[in-house]
Amino acid sequence: MPDLLIAEDIATVPSIKTEELPESETRTDVVVIGAGPTGLACAIEAQKLGLKVVVVDKGCLVNSLFHYPPGMTFFTTPELLEIGDIPFTTALQKPTREEALEYYRKVSEHYHLDVRQYEWVKTVVGEDDKFLITATDRAGRAHDYRTRKVIVSTGYYDLFNQLGIPGEDLPKVSHYYAEAHPYYDSDVLVIGGKNSAAIAALDLWRHGARVTLVYRGTQLHHHVKYWIKPDLENRIKNSEIEAYFNSTAQEIGVDYVVIHTPRGPRRLKNDFVLALIGYHPDYDFLRSMGIELSPEQHRPVCDPITLESNVPGIYVAGVIVAGSRTNEIFIENGRFHGKQIAEDLRRKFQSSS
Ligand SMILES: Cc1cc2nc3c(=O)[nH]c(=O)nc-3n(C[C@H](O)[C@H](O)[C@H](O)COP(=O)(O)OP(=O)(O)OC[C@H]3O[C@@H](n4cnc5c(N)ncnc54)[C@H](O)[C@@H]3O)c2cc1C
Repeated sequence: MPDLLIAEDIATVPSIKTEELPESETRTDVVVIGAGPTGLACAIEAQKLGLKVVVVDKGCLVNSLFHYPPGMTFFTTPELLEIGDIPFTTALQKPTREEALEYYRKVSEHYHLDVRQYEWVKTVVGEDDKFLITATDRAGRAHDYRTRKVIVSTGYYDLFNQLGIPGEDLPKVSHYYAEAHPYYDSDVLVIGGKNSAAIAALDLWRHGARVTLVYRGTQLHHHVKYWIKPDLENRIKNSEIEAYFNSTAQEIGVDYVVIHTPRGPRRLKNDFVLALIGYHPDYDFLRSMGIELSPEQHRPVCDPITLESNVPGIYVAGVIVAGSRTNEIFIENGRFHGKQIAEDLRRKFQSSS
């Protein structure tokens, strides 16, 4: 199993010792940080301009998609996930995770993208046309990249939002859902009211878990897909899944949870907690390279047309452009950022040649 990228793992990656010489040094026109669908789209479009492009990812190719639940079906039809003008066709209406992984592997191969997997970018220093990026590989070796431009497309899936309640760090608590089997014949509390929570609650119930859903909203979020919502509502109506709305988890114990409901606190028997309350970009990483973030939603300050940030030569792309509003940008619309950025790169490289 390749390195996971979730937040708990961050501490396990060795930091760079400055006195060490880098294992390798690469000179390039553009470094794309993050080999998600957006990063790949950016690399393809920049490469089409004749630029030398390197993509660096701390995990594998399309690492976030790799960490989706096995067998998951996308909400999106395949043509809306296409990048680099390569058709994506599927036998059924919507692709599975496995088909998407296959597709992005093929696209990457087709364009001969130079993707450096398992290299974690730790620092970006320097200035426009003279950036130095240092990444650390799984063995703790440093790799330097000297580049003229940087595109940051680091996504949001590795950092989960915290509940901030006692017991959240217990091993029975997870902020990611993979599959139902380990939860069979167990009492599972699912926290959240959007798609991830709704899908997990249904899947768990269908595979023999006893499911309680807790959500702070008055009802399931309106973003829950139209084919999922009635299914879950009917399970709740039939008392097959217990649901508490306008409610929050207050405390997690080894074999119980305490939830706050409009009728007062309730203590429930509990084996597992799935806190599916969302994820957020790595704001500290963005700030570390001088990118300013808007005060409340942490949106990177950037030109909305070119996506160049307040730091000349550093571009932002994909879901990070939306800051904490991660439901505004997904693959469907983030994939167009590559063309926007390439248009600006074309102008800048032309004027400097
Ligand atoms: C379960 C689930 C289902 C979804 N279904 C859909 C759907 O049907 N349709 C849709 O359009 N969207 C869907 N989304 C949303 C979609 O996955 C994201 O919007 C999309 O992945 C964002 O693309 P991105 O390229 O911006 O970021 P990501 O795909 O997250 O890619 C970011 C990459 O950056 C890498 N990275 C991060 N930090 C560093 C670093 N410091 N150094 C090196 N590499 C780094 C990560 O490893 C990762 O590979 C779904 C999300 C989830 C969780």
